[in-house]
Amino acid sequence: MEDIQRDITLKDYTSYKVGGPAEYFFIAKNIEELKRALVWAKDKGLKTTILGGGSNVVISDKGLMGLVIVNKSHDIDIEGNSVRADSGVLLKALVNKVLESGKGGIEFLANIPGTVGGAVAVNAGCYRKFAADFLISATIFHSRASDGNTLKVAEQSGDSFRVEEEWMNGCIEEVGKDSSSVTKWNREEENVKLGGLSIPLHQVTGGQVKSSNKPMFCVEKVKNDFFEFKYRSSKIKRGYEAIVLDATFEINDTDMGESRKFITEDRERRDMKHPTEPSCGSYFKNPSKENIAGELIEKSGIKGYQIGGAQVSEKHANFIINTGEANASDIKNLANYIKKIVKEKTGLELEEEVKYLGEFE
Ligand SMILES: Cc1cc2nc3c(=O)[nH]c(=O)nc-3n(C[C@H](O)[C@H](O)[C@H](O)COP(=O)(O)OP(=O)(O)OC[C@H]3O[C@@H](n4cnc5c(N)ncnc54)[C@H](O)[C@@H]3O)c2cc1C
Repeated sequence: MEDIQRDITLKDYTSYKVGGPAEYFFIAKNIEELKRALVWAKDKGLKTTILGGGSNVVISDKGLMGLVIVNKSHDIDIEGNSVRADSGVLLKALVNKVLESGKGGIEFLANIPGTVGGAVAVNAGCYRKFAADFLISATIFHSRASDGNTLKVAEQSGDSFRVEEEWMNGCIEEVGKDSSSVTKWNREEENVKLGGLSIPLHQVTGGQVKSSNKPMFCVEKVKNDFFEFKYRSSKIKRGYEAIVLDATFEINDTDMGESRKFITEDRERRDMKHPTEPSCGSYFKNPSKENIAGELIEKSGIKGYQIGGAQVSEKHANFIINTGEANASDIKNLANYIKKIVKEKTGLELEEEVKYLGEFE
């Protein structure tokens, strides 16, 4: 595919300013480009990593194998009490557009760095509000191995079949090597094609077809419950392989003055509380409502502690900052040290909010 680059350093695409090179690298300017890049990588059997704002990741110093896609898709449509946004839309731009239309409700997202896709994947939030509370639906791209699935004949006309595969129910688009090949089957052909797969005809028996075990790709509209959201987590963050292409959120009528005031005050609070050095925001989840990660770290007496170029911020103990020369290993080593000390001093386990990408020792 044209525009795929090699060995591009990823530190420039993360808020932490750390991370080695991407084996293959692509910036998707819209959803069509994003899908094309995903299919390109799948066809080549490459692992794919998507980055939105890169504001909640620590990327290994060794870099990432496979294709890294930076998502810059940017369309937003508002209709009634909902807003549909491409997954690459920055949260700030999303909220601004919603406010311009006279609606609101998602102002809490305005000052969270990052994109719509990232916010869905990690269930971003603040002030006890979460992306999950407002997400109605999303369009996702996922692949599922169709290992031995039985295909149902949905339509038959003469020797031609149109088949359906159970797992493809809900698919609004099939994506494969050759996206023009559709679910049309003809007994005359030696091989039949489904979603880009060529399947030998002998597997067609009496209207039932066994497909091969190659993965197939599906663009599907899913509802909120698909993501099985938890605090700062979704099924995707927990390992389910899917890319969010767009997301639709609920919005409502709002008092514009109040909305703008909230965003400004939130900005001021953040400027006051957060360090200015590169970071990923709060590093650890709060173990519970009563046990705030920052307070536990502070109580453990390790504010200011430093490993290499990574430091526990003096300003906010739940921020690990890059003082300028940190690499990803410094950050991870410091995180492990914090976990150990907090466990010793308070008996509580801290769990990362940030996602590690790539190999770490
Ligand atoms: C100064 C600062 C303040 C912050 N404040 C907050 C806060 O108040 N609340 C909060 O929740 N977070 C906060 N964060 C963390 C971060 O901004 C959010 O988690 C944000 O939602 C991450 O979005 P992103 O686009 O940058 O995701 P990335 O960091 O690019 O990605 C995060 C994860 O999501 C995956 N991902 C990204 N896009 C997609 C997609 N389209 N489909 C599937 N998976 C995808 C990535 O592969 C990765 O695993 C803060 C960060 C900083 C630096």
